Amino acid sequence: MTSRLTPENTPSIAAAAAAVEADGRRRIEAAADLAALREVERTVVGKRSELARLHTRLARLAPEERRDAGAVIHDARTRLQEQLGRRAAALDAEERARRVAEERLDLTEISTHAWLPRRGHLHLVTQTREELEDTFVAMGFAVAEGPEAETDWYNFQALNMPPAHPARGMWDTLYLRLGEPGQVLLRTHTSPVQVRLMESREPPIYAVMPGRCYRRDTPDARHTPVFHQIEGLVVDRGITFGDLAGTIEAFTGAYFGAGIHSRLRPSYFPFTEPSAEFEVTCPICAGEGCRTCSGSGWIELGGCGMVDPNVFEAVGVDAEVYSGFAFGFGIDRLAQVRAGLSDMRVLLDNDVRFLTQF
Ligand SMILES: [Zn+2]
Repeated sequence: MTSRLTPENTPSIAAAAAAVEADGRRRIEAAADLAALREVERTVVGKRSELARLHTRLARLAPEERRDAGAVIHDARTRLQEQLGRRAAALDAEERARRVAEERLDLTEISTHAWLPRRGHLHLVTQTREELEDTFVAMGFAVAEGPEAETDWYNFQALNMPPAHPARGMWDTLYLRLGEPGQVLLRTHTSPVQVRLMESREPPIYAVMPGRCYRRDTPDARHTPVFHQIEGLVVDRGITFGDLAGTIEAFTGAYFGAGIHSRLRPSYFPFTEPSAEFEVTCPICAGEGCRTCSGSGWIELGGCGMVDPNVFEAVGVDAEVYSGFAFGFGIDRLAQVRAGLSDMRVLLDNDVRFLTQF
C-alpha cells in the first residue's frame, strides 16, 4: 500500500508512523510489569499518543491520500496493540509465578501444637449438676447416688405405686426384665434413691440425689427419653411444710441469685401428701414476662411435697416420730432455661459447635 502514497504528504506520514511504531515496540518490551505496561499503552496507542497526532494530520490530505495514509496508521496501531496483548500475557504469567513462589507453604515443616489433642470441658448438663450439688452441699445436704436399673419395688411400689396404680401411666419406661417378682426397669426418676437411703440409715436424713433417668417419651423441644434429675429428701423430727417452702426459697436464692423467688402450687404425686409444684421467678426476664415463661414471669421447675406416710411404712420409718419432705426437678430443663435453649435435644446431639459455647 506504500506504493500508492503521493510524494508530498503520505511519505512523511508513513515514515513518521514507522518511527512511532518502532519507538512503541521498544517501550512495550521494556515495560517491567503490568502497571508500567498500562502506562506505555496510554502513550503508544492512547488518545494523546504520537499515533493519534498523526491521525489528525490525515484531515489535511486529499481523500485518496487520506485513505492510504489512514491505512498505514491503522496497520501500525493494529501491530502495536497485538504486541501489547502478548506482552501483557507474558507479564501476567510472570506475576502469577512470582506470587505462587512467594505464597508457597512449606508443608514439610512440623507444627507441634497441631498434634496436641484439643482440650475438652464438662458438658453443660454436668456443669449444671455440679453447680446444683455445690449449692445443696453448702446448705448442709449430703449427695447420694443409686443404680439406674431398678426393680419395680424401688421405682414404684415403695413409692406408694402398687401394680396397676394409675399414676404409673405418667412414668412409662423401658423394661430390662419383665414379670413379677424380679421386674427390672430403667428408673423413671431419682426417687428410688430416697427409698434406698431410708432403708439403709436412721433419720435424720438431709440428702440430694442427682442422676440419670429414663422415660418412654417421644423426643421434642422439652422432652428427651434420657434426662437428668436431682431430688432432695429431708427426714427428721418435727419437719413441716414450712420447712419445705423455706428450703425451696433458700435454694432458689442461693442458686439463681437475689431477686429470684419461688412459689408453690397445689399438685399431686403418689409419694407425697400434700404435694406441690414449685415455680421460680423467670431468670431470663426476672419476672417481667418473656417468651421462655410464656409471659407469666414464672418458670415451673419441679415437684415437691411432704413424704407420704405409706412411703415411710414401706421403708420402716416410724411416721409417728418422723416427718419429712422431698423435692425434685430436671437438671436438663434447668440448663435449658438458664442457657436460653429453645430445643432440649441440642444437649444430646453432641455437636461440638454447640458444646464449645458453654
Ligand atoms: Zn421470662
